[in-house]
Amino acid sequence: FNFENKVVLITGCNGQIGDSIVNLFIDLKSKVYGIDKSKKKSKKKFNFLKADITNQNKIKKIINTIISKEKKIDIFINNAGISIFTNFKKRTENELEKIFKTNVASVINIIKNYVIQYDKKKLKKGRIINIGSIYGFLSPDFKIYSKGDRFSPEIYGATKSSVIQLTKYYAVLLADRNINVNCISPGGILNTKLQSKNFINNYNKRVPKKRMGLPKDLLTSIIYLSSDYSDYTTGQNIIVDGGLSLKW
Ligand code: NAD
Repeated sequence: FNFENKVVLITGCNGQIGDSIVNLFIDLKSKVYGIDKSKKKSKKKFNFLKADITNQNKIKKIINTIISKEKKIDIFINNAGISIFTNFKKRTENELEKIFKTNVASVINIIKNYVIQYDKKKLKKGRIINIGSIYGFLSPDFKIYSKGDRFSPEIYGATKSSVIQLTKYYAVLLADRNINVNCISPGGILNTKLQSKNFINNYNKRVPKKRMGLPKDLLTSIIYLSSDYSDYTTGQNIIVDGGLSLKW
Protein backbone atom coordinates (compact mmCIF):
# COMPACT_ATOMS: atom_id res chain seq x y z
CA PHE A 1 0.00 0.00 0.00
CA ASN A 2 2.69 2.46 -0.96
CA PHE A 3 1.26 5.49 -2.70
CA GLU A 4 4.29 7.73 -2.42
CA ASN A 5 4.79 9.63 -5.70
CA LYS A 6 1.79 8.00 -7.32
CA VAL A 7 0.08 10.51 -9.60
CA VAL A 8 -3.57 10.85 -8.68
CA LEU A 9 -6.17 12.92 -10.53
CA ILE A 10 -9.54 13.63 -8.89
CA THR A 11 -12.48 15.51 -10.38
CA GLY A 12 -14.82 17.46 -8.12
CA CYS A 13 -12.01 17.92 -5.60
CA ASN A 14 -13.74 20.79 -3.74
CA GLY A 15 -16.75 18.71 -2.78
CA GLN A 16 -17.51 16.75 0.37
CA ILE A 17 -16.23 13.43 -0.96
CA GLY A 18 -13.56 14.88 -3.29
CA ASP A 19 -11.93 16.83 -0.47
CA SER A 20 -11.68 13.73 1.68
CA ILE A 21 -10.07 11.75 -1.20
CA VAL A 22 -7.60 14.60 -1.83
CA ASN A 23 -6.63 14.63 1.87
CA LEU A 24 -6.16 10.86 1.83
CA PHE A 25 -3.67 10.95 -1.05
CA ILE A 26 -1.87 14.01 0.35
CA ASP A 27 -1.39 12.05 3.60
CA LEU A 28 -0.11 9.09 1.55
CA LYS A 29 2.45 11.43 -0.08
CA SER A 30 1.06 11.04 -3.58
CA LYS A 31 1.25 13.71 -6.26
CA VAL A 32 -2.31 14.97 -6.18
CA TYR A 33 -4.07 16.82 -9.01
CA GLY A 34 -7.61 18.02 -8.42
CA ILE A 35 -10.07 19.52 -10.88
CA ASP A 36 -13.10 21.57 -9.89
CA LYS A 37 -15.20 24.24 -11.56
CA SER A 38 -15.35 26.31 -8.37
CA LYS A 39 -12.49 28.16 -6.65
CA LYS A 40 -10.07 26.04 -4.57
CA LYS A 41 -11.55 25.46 -1.12
CA SER A 42 -8.99 23.31 0.68
CA LYS A 43 -6.10 24.99 2.46
CA LYS A 44 -3.94 21.91 1.84
CA LYS A 45 -1.23 21.99 -0.82
CA PHE A 46 -1.92 20.08 -4.04
CA ASN A 47 -2.12 20.82 -7.75
CA PHE A 48 -5.49 22.49 -8.10
CA LEU A 49 -6.86 23.04 -11.61
CA LYS A 50 -9.96 25.17 -12.07
CA ALA A 51 -11.90 23.66 -14.95
CA ASP A 52 -15.35 22.56 -15.97
CA ILE A 53 -15.24 18.85 -16.82
CA THR A 54 -17.90 19.35 -19.50
CA ASN A 55 -15.40 21.47 -21.43
CA GLN A 56 -13.76 18.75 -23.54
CA ASN A 57 -10.88 20.85 -24.86
CA LYS A 58 -9.88 22.06 -21.43
CA ILE A 59 -9.96 18.55 -20.00
CA LYS A 60 -7.92 17.22 -22.90
CA LYS A 61 -5.27 19.90 -22.27
CA ILE A 62 -5.18 19.14 -18.55
CA ILE A 63 -4.67 15.42 -19.10
CA ASN A 64 -2.00 16.00 -21.75
CA THR A 65 -0.17 18.47 -19.50
CA ILE A 66 -0.19 16.14 -16.47
CA ILE A 67 0.98 13.13 -18.49
CA SER A 68 3.70 15.17 -20.23
CA LYS A 69 4.97 16.44 -16.88
CA GLU A 70 4.59 13.34 -14.70
CA LYS A 71 4.88 10.72 -17.49
CA LYS A 72 1.81 8.96 -16.11
CA ILE A 73 -1.46 9.20 -14.21
CA ASP A 74 -1.57 6.21 -11.87
CA ILE A 75 -5.00 6.71 -10.38
CA PHE A 76 -7.85 8.54 -11.97
CA ILE A 77 -10.98 9.24 -9.90
CA ASN A 78 -14.14 10.41 -11.67
CA ASN A 79 -15.86 11.93 -8.67
CA ALA A 80 -17.51 15.17 -9.86
CA GLY A 81 -21.26 14.82 -10.13
CA ILE A 82 -24.37 16.95 -9.88
CA SER A 83 -28.08 16.57 -9.26
CA ILE A 84 -31.22 18.69 -9.21
CA PHE A 85 -33.96 18.93 -6.64
CA THR A 86 -37.05 20.09 -8.48
CA ASN A 87 -40.21 18.13 -9.22
CA PHE A 88 -39.94 15.72 -12.17
CA LYS A 89 -43.01 17.35 -13.75
CA LYS A 90 -41.02 20.57 -14.09
CA ARG A 91 -37.97 18.91 -15.66
CA THR A 92 -36.47 20.93 -18.54
CA GLU A 93 -34.30 19.91 -21.50
CA ASN A 94 -31.52 22.14 -20.16
CA GLU A 95 -31.50 20.36 -16.82
CA LEU A 96 -31.46 16.95 -18.45
CA GLU A 97 -28.63 17.96 -20.75
CA LYS A 98 -26.53 19.54 -18.00
CA ILE A 99 -26.80 16.57 -15.62
CA PHE A 100 -26.20 14.03 -18.36
CA LYS A 101 -23.20 16.01 -19.66
CA THR A 102 -21.62 16.31 -16.22
CA ASN A 103 -22.32 12.86 -14.83
CA VAL A 104 -22.01 10.70 -17.96
CA ALA A 105 -20.61 12.44 -21.05
CA SER A 106 -17.70 13.93 -19.06
CA VAL A 107 -16.72 10.51 -17.73
CA ILE A 108 -16.69 9.17 -21.30
CA ASN A 109 -14.63 12.13 -22.55
CA ILE A 110 -12.16 12.03 -19.70
CA ILE A 111 -11.56 8.30 -20.09
CA LYS A 112 -11.20 8.74 -23.86
CA ASN A 113 -8.54 11.45 -23.45
CA TYR A 114 -6.76 9.46 -20.77
CA VAL A 115 -6.57 6.33 -22.94
CA ILE A 116 -5.39 8.33 -25.99
CA GLN A 117 -2.48 9.71 -23.95
CA TYR A 118 -1.88 6.36 -22.27
CA ASP A 119 -1.49 4.68 -25.68
CA LYS A 120 0.67 7.50 -27.04
CA LYS A 121 3.11 7.28 -24.13
CA LYS A 122 2.96 3.47 -24.07
CA LEU A 123 2.10 3.40 -20.38
CA LYS A 124 1.97 0.06 -18.62
CA LYS A 125 -0.72 0.38 -15.99
CA GLY A 126 -3.66 2.50 -14.90
CA ARG A 127 -6.49 2.66 -12.43
CA ILE A 128 -9.82 4.36 -12.96
CA ILE A 129 -12.33 4.68 -10.14
CA ASN A 130 -15.79 6.03 -10.90
CA ILE A 131 -18.12 7.28 -8.22
CA GLY A 132 -21.63 5.91 -8.74
CA SER A 133 -24.45 5.89 -6.21
CA ILE A 134 -26.96 3.47 -4.71
CA TYR A 135 -29.50 5.40 -6.81
CA GLY A 136 -27.80 3.93 -9.86
CA PHE A 137 -29.55 0.64 -9.03
CA LEU A 138 -32.22 1.54 -6.45
CA SER A 139 -35.16 3.87 -6.44
CA PRO A 140 -35.35 6.29 -3.51
CA ASP A 141 -37.89 5.59 -0.77
CA PHE A 142 -40.03 8.70 -1.26
CA LYS A 143 -41.55 8.30 2.22
CA ILE A 144 -38.35 9.52 3.91
CA TYR A 145 -38.61 13.01 2.39
CA SER A 146 -40.63 15.88 3.85
CA LYS A 147 -41.56 19.13 2.13
CA GLY A 148 -38.38 21.09 1.27
CA ASP A 149 -36.05 18.05 1.43
CA ARG A 150 -33.67 17.45 -1.49
CA PHE A 151 -35.04 14.22 -2.94
CA SER A 152 -33.10 12.20 -5.46
CA PRO A 153 -34.55 12.87 -8.93
CA GLU A 154 -35.11 10.48 -11.84
CA ILE A 155 -32.26 11.88 -13.97
CA TYR A 156 -29.67 11.48 -11.19
CA GLY A 157 -30.37 7.75 -10.85
CA ALA A 158 -30.36 7.34 -14.62
CA THR A 159 -26.91 8.93 -14.91
CA LYS A 160 -25.47 6.93 -12.00
CA SER A 161 -26.78 3.72 -13.50
CA SER A 162 -24.88 4.71 -16.66
CA VAL A 163 -21.72 5.21 -14.61
CA ILE A 164 -22.02 1.67 -13.21
CA GLN A 165 -22.54 0.25 -16.72
CA LEU A 166 -19.69 2.32 -18.21
CA THR A 167 -17.44 0.88 -15.50
CA LYS A 168 -18.14 -2.64 -16.78
CA TYR A 169 -17.77 -1.61 -20.41
CA TYR A 170 -14.38 0.04 -19.93
CA ALA A 171 -13.18 -2.73 -17.60
CA VAL A 172 -13.51 -5.20 -20.47
CA LEU A 173 -12.31 -2.81 -23.16
CA LEU A 174 -9.20 -1.71 -21.26
CA ALA A 175 -8.25 -4.96 -19.50
CA ASP A 176 -5.48 -5.82 -21.97
CA ARG A 177 -3.93 -2.38 -21.42
CA ASN A 178 -3.74 -3.21 -17.70
CA ILE A 179 -6.14 -0.40 -16.84
CA ASN A 180 -8.54 -1.53 -14.12
CA VAL A 181 -11.86 0.28 -14.00
CA ASN A 182 -14.04 0.03 -10.91
CA CYS A 183 -16.85 1.94 -9.29
CA ILE A 184 -17.74 2.86 -5.71
CA SER A 185 -21.43 3.45 -5.03
CA PRO A 186 -21.97 5.34 -1.79
CA GLY A 187 -25.27 5.48 0.06
CA GLY A 188 -26.41 8.86 1.35
CA ILE A 189 -23.59 10.88 2.89
CA LEU A 190 -24.40 12.96 5.96
CA ASN A 191 -24.49 16.69 5.31
CA THR A 192 -26.16 18.61 8.12
CA LYS A 193 -26.06 21.85 6.10
CA LEU A 194 -28.19 20.39 3.30
CA GLN A 195 -30.27 17.67 4.96
CA SER A 196 -33.12 18.22 7.42
CA LYS A 197 -33.14 16.53 10.85
CA ASN A 198 -36.29 14.73 9.82
CA PHE A 199 -34.67 13.36 6.68
CA ILE A 200 -31.54 12.25 8.54
CA ASN A 201 -33.65 10.44 11.19
CA ASN A 202 -35.81 8.73 8.57
CA TYR A 203 -32.76 7.71 6.56
CA ASN A 204 -30.88 6.40 9.62
CA LYS A 205 -33.81 4.17 10.55
CA ARG A 206 -33.63 2.43 7.16
CA VAL A 207 -29.90 1.61 7.41
CA PRO A 208 -28.80 -1.62 9.15
CA LYS A 209 -25.75 0.30 10.46
CA LYS A 210 -28.22 2.93 11.75
CA ARG A 211 -26.46 5.96 10.29
CA MET A 212 -25.75 7.84 7.09
CA GLY A 213 -22.33 7.49 5.49
CA LEU A 214 -19.38 9.79 6.02
CA PRO A 215 -16.81 10.62 3.32
CA LYS A 216 -14.18 8.70 5.31
CA ASP A 217 -16.27 5.52 5.00
CA LEU A 218 -15.31 5.41 1.31
CA LEU A 219 -11.56 5.68 1.78
CA THR A 220 -10.66 2.03 2.38
CA SER A 221 -12.41 1.12 -0.88
CA ILE A 222 -10.50 3.90 -2.64
CA ILE A 223 -7.21 2.59 -1.22
CA TYR A 224 -8.02 -1.00 -2.15
CA LEU A 225 -9.01 -0.16 -5.74
CA SER A 226 -5.95 2.09 -6.15
CA SER A 227 -3.47 -0.45 -4.82
CA ASP A 228 -1.54 -3.32 -6.42
CA TYR A 229 -3.57 -5.72 -4.27
CA SER A 230 -6.58 -5.20 -6.51
CA ASP A 231 -4.77 -6.10 -9.75
CA TYR A 232 -7.29 -8.86 -10.49
CA THR A 233 -10.37 -6.77 -9.61
CA THR A 234 -11.97 -4.91 -12.46
CA GLY A 235 -15.47 -3.86 -13.51
CA GLN A 236 -16.78 -4.06 -9.95
CA ASN A 237 -19.18 -1.79 -8.15
CA ILE A 238 -18.38 -1.64 -4.44
CA ILE A 239 -21.46 -0.55 -2.55
CA VAL A 240 -20.68 1.40 0.61
CA ASP A 241 -24.07 2.07 2.18
CA GLY A 242 -24.09 0.60 5.70
CA GLY A 243 -26.16 -2.32 4.38
CA LEU A 244 -29.06 -0.16 3.16
CA SER A 245 -29.41 -1.86 -0.21
CA LEU A 246 -29.38 -5.37 1.29
CA LYS A 247 -32.88 -5.32 2.59
CA TRP A 248 -36.39 -4.26 1.75
P1 NAD B 1 -20.43 17.84 -3.84
O1 NAD B 1 -21.52 18.61 -4.47
O2 NAD B 1 -20.07 18.13 -2.42
O3 NAD B 1 -19.11 17.95 -4.72
C1 NAD B 1 -19.12 17.85 -6.11
C2 NAD B 1 -18.00 18.72 -6.63
O4 NAD B 1 -17.96 18.57 -8.06
C3 NAD B 1 -18.23 20.22 -6.34
O5 NAD B 1 -17.07 20.76 -5.76
C4 NAD B 1 -18.52 20.82 -7.71
O6 NAD B 1 -18.03 22.14 -7.86
C5 NAD B 1 -17.78 19.85 -8.62
N1 NAD B 1 -18.35 19.86 -9.97
C6 NAD B 1 -19.64 19.72 -10.32
N2 NAD B 1 -19.78 19.84 -11.64
C7 NAD B 1 -18.54 20.06 -12.14
C8 NAD B 1 -18.04 20.28 -13.43
N3 NAD B 1 -18.85 20.34 -14.50
N4 NAD B 1 -16.72 20.48 -13.59
C9 NAD B 1 -15.88 20.45 -12.53
N5 NAD B 1 -16.31 20.26 -11.27
C10 NAD B 1 -17.62 20.06 -11.08
O7 NAD B 1 -20.83 16.32 -4.02
P2 NAD B 1 -20.31 15.06 -3.21
O8 NAD B 1 -21.36 14.70 -2.23
O9 NAD B 1 -18.91 15.23 -2.75
O10 NAD B 1 -20.39 13.97 -4.37
C11 NAD B 1 -19.27 13.49 -5.06
C12 NAD B 1 -19.72 12.32 -5.93
O11 NAD B 1 -20.33 11.33 -5.12
C13 NAD B 1 -20.77 12.72 -6.98
O12 NAD B 1 -20.53 12.02 -8.16
C14 NAD B 1 -22.06 12.26 -6.34
O13 NAD B 1 -23.06 11.99 -7.29
C15 NAD B 1 -21.61 11.01 -5.61
N6 NAD B 1 -22.45 10.60 -4.51
C16 NAD B 1 -22.72 11.44 -3.48
C17 NAD B 1 -23.53 11.02 -2.44
C18 NAD B 1 -23.87 11.93 -1.30
O14 NAD B 1 -24.79 11.59 -0.53
N7 NAD B 1 -23.21 13.05 -1.12
C19 NAD B 1 -24.06 9.73 -2.45
C20 NAD B 1 -23.76 8.90 -3.51
C21 NAD B 1 -22.96 9.34 -4.53
